[in-house]
Amino acid sequence: MDREGLIFRYERVLERLEAACAAAGRSRAEVTLLAVSKLHSVEAVAALYAAGQKDFGENYVQEALRKRREMTALQGTGAAGEGSGDGGMRWHFIGHLQSRKAALAAGNFALIHSLDSRRLADALERSLASAGLRQSVLIQVNLAKEAQKSGIAAEDLPALAEYVSQVCPHLDLRGLMCLPPVFDAGQAARPHFARLHALRENLRVRLLSPLPELSMGMSGDFEAAVGEGATLVRIGTDIFGPRAVAQSMH
Ligand SMILES: *Cc1c(COP(=O)(O)O)cnc(C)c1O
Repeated sequence: MDREGLIFRYERVLERLEAACAAAGRSRAEVTLLAVSKLHSVEAVAALYAAGQKDFGENYVQEALRKRREMTALQGTGAAGEGSGDGGMRWHFIGHLQSRKAALAAGNFALIHSLDSRRLADALERSLASAGLRQSVLIQVNLAKEAQKSGIAAEDLPALAEYVSQVCPHLDLRGLMCLPPVFDAGQAARPHFARLHALRENLRVRLLSPLPELSMGMSGDFEAAVGEGATLVRIGTDIFGPRAVAQSMH
């Protein structure tokens, strides 16, 4: 691992994020940077944590849980959720979550960004209820109904959000997440982010719930997302460099 390169790239991303907040007239404290560490080593995670990074995003449940265990072993940290102490490290699940893996994920992440079906909500709710745990979640919206991407279609969002709030007492619905249909498109992604923001405003009124989180923006377009109200930006490549294995994104 090239530690110097990693820290250099991380600091450039922090500067860009600060500039994006300033340009949008927003406080830097409103936006949480998630370092997306999928397919990168636990040594890289540890180096970034030592540099002050607290929030990490992972796409695969077993990989995430393994890294968390290894971080705990390395430095007595790697806590699952908010308020659990242990150096304040927070793991987020941002990948597609299959219902059959729900029991592995439930209660193990500060936030699951990718709830996208009743079936998954039911599976999470069952595991959480039997373990006596709660789990914060975002609903992932598939804005352009792309077949290869996960997420629920915008027209089905209100029904799923109502279902989660009314039928799943162990799930805390905190907001929405999206992957825009254009990739690495910079400002061209901005209308998609505006749309997710608008969907959230409608849901707020409907559910009478603040839904404070908007998870949107990646390496190629996070400035545009910050301009449209992102509270969580998910940056992988621009921090860690290219991933060893090309993976499809969900
Ligand atoms: C991999 C991934 C990211 C990070 O993407 P980069 O382009 O490497 O910054 C963000 N969000 C999700 C859901 C991902 O799967």
